[in-house]
Amino acid sequence: MRVCIIGTGYVGLVTGACLAELGNQVICVDNDEEKIEILRGGEVPIYEPGLREMVRNAREAKRISFTSSIAEGVAASDIVFIAVSTPPLPDGSADLSAVARVAREVAENLDGYKVIVDKSTVPVKTGEKVAETIMRYRKNKVEFDVVSNPEFLREGSAIYDTFHPDRIVIGTSSSRAASILQELYKPLEAPLIVTDVNSAEIIKHASNSFLATKISFANALARVCEEAGANVEEVTKGMGLDKRIGNQFLNAGVGYGGSCFPKDVSAFIKIAEELGYDFRLLKEVELINKLQADYFFSKIKETLWILEDKTVGILGLAFKPNTDDMRNAPSIDIISKLLREKAKIKAYDPRAMEKAKSILKDIEYCSDPYRAAEGSEALVILTEWNEFKEMDLEKLKKLLKHPTVIDGRNIYEPAKMKELGFTYHSIGR
Ligand code: NAD
Repeated sequence: MRVCIIGTGYVGLVTGACLAELGNQVICVDNDEEKIEILRGGEVPIYEPGLREMVRNAREAKRISFTSSIAEGVAASDIVFIAVSTPPLPDGSADLSAVARVAREVAENLDGYKVIVDKSTVPVKTGEKVAETIMRYRKNKVEFDVVSNPEFLREGSAIYDTFHPDRIVIGTSSSRAASILQELYKPLEAPLIVTDVNSAEIIKHASNSFLATKISFANALARVCEEAGANVEEVTKGMGLDKRIGNQFLNAGVGYGGSCFPKDVSAFIKIAEELGYDFRLLKEVELINKLQADYFFSKIKETLWILEDKTVGILGLAFKPNTDDMRNAPSIDIISKLLREKAKIKAYDPRAMEKAKSILKDIEYCSDPYRAAEGSEALVILTEWNEFKEMDLEKLKKLLKHPTVIDGRNIYEPAKMKELGFTYHSIGR
């Protein structure tokens, strides 16, 4: 099928590459000319495992192309995906200006029936607005349908997730549009549900809010476990074996971050408020998340006391492993607090340092994790990369000025760390 993807970021580029891999003809559009130039030059502007190779193969097979022109993309396709950013506004609601701009431009270039699919995460009733916009700006009353097809991929395993989704949600009142998308997704052999547009939009916000709730629950539990002398890992393991609960997203840590959970939870609170419901449960989820980062910082302070002129090694900057994404990474908040108290920071991340450099300026970036540890008063772990789990702890101990590890991701065993002679602090254990 002929597919256009507008917005060539973590979602758009992965979706485009995967659909090309399945044999579709894909044209990716982005208004960031620099991104388009990079992609045309055979490189990818983001890190996602396997993506570079997949884009290369699709280019060689001439199944994917890149342009900054929506007109060109729309003309070359039957299905048009909108996968642009929907960042938060200062009041917590979603900024839909990019979606609105794209909808208008798509409408102005419609030259026949097309399915316009919203993949960006948007508040309920956005589909209605997109349809109204297209009606207003289309020419010659060309036919179209609007579908909500929320995306559930996770950065770091985005290609796997695209090929093996737990479910595909198609929100539309048009059986014609539904069957076109069913055909597009048929090779994935995944559970697919067709809903109305509003329900599909709510499924996305509800899912992310629920996952964030699980994380905040685990973080609240960690506080109780610490006070009780229990081990949160054992508690969540015991809970997670219950199939009704499940073991995923029950990891205590430094709080959730990234480009989705913080903005989607606050957008959902705002959506509910506009609909007349005070979603107090989610307000508490947000508060627990903020308090968790503060609490972790207080652990560092309690360990090192006065931070001025003390060197702190940081392992992990990205908001999660296997990505270079720094958007709303907990590391930003924690390192900023350390810098305000005049600590010196030596940091290492396997993939996110390039992106971190424009956000966290006054810190030393190290070429490997051992260098970040060398001469530091303590080592702070903020992202659970496998590379850190597999480190030579004896070597680490020798390099640190004091053998102190403050682990925000519970990657080491407390008993083993004690045996090796470390002062070791983690979360809820
Ligand atoms: P991103 O910032 O990586 O990519 C968005 C792209 O859209 C950028 O390349 C940007 O240049 C482009 N863009 C913005 N305005 C445009 C316009 N007017 N015309 C053309 N291109 C434009 O964002 P992302 O992480 O891919 O997220 C996209 C959407 O998908 C968001 O709504 C997000 O909430 C949702 N989502 C993201 C994830 C994730 O893990 N990143 C997962 C599920 C859903």
